Amino acid sequence: MSAYSAKKAWLYLYRSTRLRCPICGISPLFLPAHRIEGLEDWYTTLPGCPRCGYAYEREPGYFMLAIGLVNFGVVMIVGIGLVFLLDSLFELSTAQLIFFTLVPTWLISILSVRHAKAFFLAIDHFLDPAVGKRE
Ligand SMILES: [Zn+2]
Repeated sequence: MSAYSAKKAWLYLYRSTRLRCPICGISPLFLPAHRIEGLEDWYTTLPGCPRCGYAYEREPGYFMLAIGLVNFGVVMIVGIGLVFLLDSLFELSTAQLIFFTLVPTWLISILSVRHAKAFFLAIDHFLDPAVGKRE
């Protein structure tokens, strides 16, 4: 398999949709739902894969691009689409339109942050494979 094969890209993206390690596809990237105690547990990745030693966060601030591009991009597209959809379907005041757009997009932002990080990890590993083990 070549370094940039489509099969490998789909494999990494598939593993990211399951929130699994991009290398082995078995270990989770985040705490399981029953062990989450707060919002920080929800969006913080585990330090690395206990099975293959792959470090999930390569350096401090590693996931800033994931949040800035992937998560914000998804939220922005959904929010803009929602504004146009609500405005075309209902007679809403500006305040109502803002409220009915901000609340769902805020929820989508929190719910999609894990997948944004997982997609970013998969894309980054595909383009620049980390060969080193966890420190
Ligand atoms: Zn692994």
